[in-house]
Amino acid sequence: MLPFIRSDLAQFNAYKPHPSSDTAAAIPVQLDRLDTNESPYDLPPELKEKLAWTYQQVIETNRYPDGGHETLKEAIAKYVNESASLTSPVFTATNISIGNGSDELIRSLLIATCLGGEGAILVANPTFSMYGILAKTLGIPVVTVARNLDNFEIDLKAAQSAIEQTQNPPIRVVFVVHPNSPTGNSLTTAELSWLKSLGEKILVVIDEAYFEFSQTTLVSELAQRPNWVVLRTFSKAFRLAALRVGYCVAHPQAIAILEKVRLPYNLPSFSIAAALAAMQNSQLLLETISPTLNEREKLIKLLSQHPALKVTKSAANFIFLRLLTNNPDPQNATLKTLHQELKASRTLVREISGGLRITIGTSDENTRTFNRIQAALANLEF
Ligand SMILES: *Cc1c(COP(=O)(O)O)cnc(C)c1O
Repeated sequence: MLPFIRSDLAQFNAYKPHPSSDTAAAIPVQLDRLDTNESPYDLPPELKEKLAWTYQQVIETNRYPDGGHETLKEAIAKYVNESASLTSPVFTATNISIGNGSDELIRSLLIATCLGGEGAILVANPTFSMYGILAKTLGIPVVTVARNLDNFEIDLKAAQSAIEQTQNPPIRVVFVVHPNSPTGNSLTTAELSWLKSLGEKILVVIDEAYFEFSQTTLVSELAQRPNWVVLRTFSKAFRLAALRVGYCVAHPQAIAILEKVRLPYNLPSFSIAAALAAMQNSQLLLETISPTLNEREKLIKLLSQHPALKVTKSAANFIFLRLLTNNPDPQNATLKTLHQELKASRTLVREISGGLRITIGTSDENTRTFNRIQAALANLEF
């Protein structure tokens, strides 16, 4: 260990980007990349051409990008208003902060709330791993509670007692994903009332990365709740994972803090242009949502018929699959084998929290996924 490095960082491993990004480039065979919940569809060619033109004719690469993001913020605010079917628009650019992916915003929120021993965070596992990873790199304690293993609801009793009992530092932020990853369930009424019961000293972060698939949003709560923020991303339904754009919707005071914390030129000019184009063509881009949801239901139905599989319902563009085995298997050996077999047959999925998280791909990909799972299971002992 280098002697000038913070001692607590010694035990950390760097975040391992999912294998598909390197394997896809390295292996010239067709891989079904269903491990990171991206859209299977690239941008429509006409939109790509428009962006190529923008890159050639408008963007001056010798100049810093627009550091204020005003035009993009306005376009996002308009989309957020529409997305909540608000009768009169309530959100403006003052309610939006834009990050280099919502990952950057998660880190900014942590810096703004918990850094320097001021707070800890609460997460209910299994959930999105970046909250915990980013908190730990900042030396922020992570308090975890469990979920019900049948329906993945948060153990609210444990969560409440964690809030009451955690001191030095107290819990300052609660992170939830709506719908949750990797399990696909939306927040329930009970979970929502618990979140609403949290005092104004606790920031509630509602991560709506999969909003366009779930079509349920909590942004309309933000007006009454200055301690809530909603995160969204262009990486999933808007098909721009390569360009790293996410945004936060919140009270103007919270936004002002995020703006203080962010790096001045956090978004490249090309990413700003692409996100703006996505907002201007949102209907075109979101045309793939409905076929994806149909595909999801089809895949759930097929997989549910298999006696060895348990699939839970999902409000997102992925499903969570578990094995029903007669043998107790704390190491998940059968699951790991299934994961490996799928990889060997060129379907990449994510093995996580005792199950497989499978992104909904194109119709062909989903058919292959089902066939390959069936073939792999036929060779496995239960
Ligand atoms: C994919 C995902 C994000 C998006 O992160 P970006 O940094 O915007 O790509 C955020 N939260 C959750 C829960 C996700 O699954």
